[in-house]
Amino acid sequence: MKLRNHRPNYKQFAYSTLAAALFSAVAVGAQAASFSPVTDADILNDQATTNDVVSYGLGPKAQRYSPLKKLDKTNVKELRPAWAFSLGGEKQRGQESQPLVKDGVMYITGSYSRLFAIDSVTGEELWQYDARLPDNIMPCCDVINRGAALYDNLVIFGTLDAKLVALDRKTGKVVWKEKIADYKAGYSFTSAPQIIKGMVVTGVSGGEFGIIGKVDARNAKTGELVWTRPVIEGHMGYLNGKENGITGGEAGKTWPGDLWKQGGGATWNGGTYDPETNLIYVGTGNPAPWNSHTRPGNNLYTSSRVAIDADTGKIAWHFQTTPHDGWDYDGVNELIPFDYKDGGKTVKAAATADRNGYFYVLNRTNGDFIRGIPFVKNINWASGLDDKGAPIWMPENRPGNPAESEDGKKGKSVFAIPSFLGGKNWMPMAFSKDTGLFYVPSNEWGMDIWNEPISYKKGAAYLGAGFTIKPIFEDHIGSLKAIDPKTGEIKWEFKNNAPLWGGVLTTAGGLVFTGTPEGYLYGLDANSGKVLYKFQTGSGIVGSPITWEQDGEQYVAVISGWGGAVPLWGGDVAKRVNYLNQGGTVWAFKLPKS
Ligand code: CA
Ligand code: CA
Repeated sequence: MKLRNHRPNYKQFAYSTLAAALFSAVAVGAQAASFSPVTDADILNDQATTNDVVSYGLGPKAQRYSPLKKLDKTNVKELRPAWAFSLGGEKQRGQESQPLVKDGVMYITGSYSRLFAIDSVTGEELWQYDARLPDNIMPCCDVINRGAALYDNLVIFGTLDAKLVALDRKTGKVVWKEKIADYKAGYSFTSAPQIIKGMVVTGVSGGEFGIIGKVDARNAKTGELVWTRPVIEGHMGYLNGKENGITGGEAGKTWPGDLWKQGGGATWNGGTYDPETNLIYVGTGNPAPWNSHTRPGNNLYTSSRVAIDADTGKIAWHFQTTPHDGWDYDGVNELIPFDYKDGGKTVKAAATADRNGYFYVLNRTNGDFIRGIPFVKNINWASGLDDKGAPIWMPENRPGNPAESEDGKKGKSVFAIPSFLGGKNWMPMAFSKDTGLFYVPSNEWGMDIWNEPISYKKGAAYLGAGFTIKPIFEDHIGSLKAIDPKTGEIKWEFKNNAPLWGGVLTTAGGLVFTGTPEGYLYGLDANSGKVLYKFQTGSGIVGSPITWEQDGEQYVAVISGWGGAVPLWGGDVAKRVNYLNQGGTVWAFKLPKS
């Protein structure tokens, strides 16, 4: 570990902020000097409490909605930078983080498993933690991190070598550190941990290496394991101190032979939690390998949403968006709980926008399919969904079996829409209870994809496929869409030249915020999609914006720093956006004091 304390210690910082406040030369947050422990109640109420952001998604349901309305459609055009903070160093890679704010301190994770604590009013660095990473880590999709979790006096985040680190919020010193999985087998960790009932809940990355997806729950204060839930049928889990405390179902029931043993299903994008049902909703990635002809069957529980009981780790239900996936349509995207009225009755629903191009509304108590719509154009791997939400295949658009080719080396290539980077990828959508709309960052693109023979080797890529991603429209790839979950109607669309790769935020002020790879932070009208504000941040935005209130003022913050999967895997699309500059800066905005 390398701890850089630019200030001798935190106590001195507290005194210096006090002094600054006395001379009122700098507007320093009154809360900055005092820390309060983050509780389970704080996390459950995060959406309603506007003076802090203590969880990824602004609350366990991750609706990314703020009730703040000081900033609204009439005044957002006056939004100005309050401060900017550079992540520094030569390691300018994708910055996909969502900031957290508590007691006047912002916590932000950066590329290469770094974590920064910053004064949320002045932008000054308080401390920085750099994880010491081994040379042979295997992150598939850039050296990114999506954010931290707060609990008690701790800030907790995962590292690219699949470890979980808990730091003291005041000092940045390590309190505990645990191994999540073996990085040498291809595991890594990039999502923001979740705090549920005093437990820190995490998934794993590594779906391209034949790993086994799982969800771990640990005591957040000590790091001690409470339960482990593997999400591939047949694998046993850990509960109450017992290695085989959770049954994994019948091994190989939906898999041929031993393929379930390296079945994939990476839980790499974290999850959401609904206190009413006590269920954790987690998405699972592609079955391994990509070449689907090696593994006839549904390959449970890959490319699915699984609902896991928070106390026992038991799978309460699952909904498979892409059975027998042959296109790398990871089903990891967030399932957002929300309620709506149908003929006077409240429907306990949840919605998700899948990589496969369909937007699903499910009953979150039992996983029943309510409705689904295509949210991107020209989908051609399926012609639609049946009344249970299962895809209606277009078999001619499944990449062919290499065993049926002349030399047995390359199966028939197909052009499939969407590309494997998805109608929507990891970047989180937002839901506004005011408009009743979901704001979905989507991309319109396709891919040439073909299959090749493959066998499993520990720590090596396990795909059995080749591909080239291509644009399908001249004028845009990115498209932010406002979707009515009650009808499936797309109310408006905001098109962008480059693929969208950042999260979305919506507010009671009738606004939607998101960023683009071209570097703009946009403020849009939540009802019409009209651009009300834009600001150039100097590098591409692939992070998720937040808003909070401090000293009576509403702030908006977002991290800027182009990177992520698109430049690495994007084929012809990567070439189209290769002019974009890298960077690494947190920007905080507010209205000028009139
Ligand atoms: Ca809050
Ligand atoms: Ca994948």
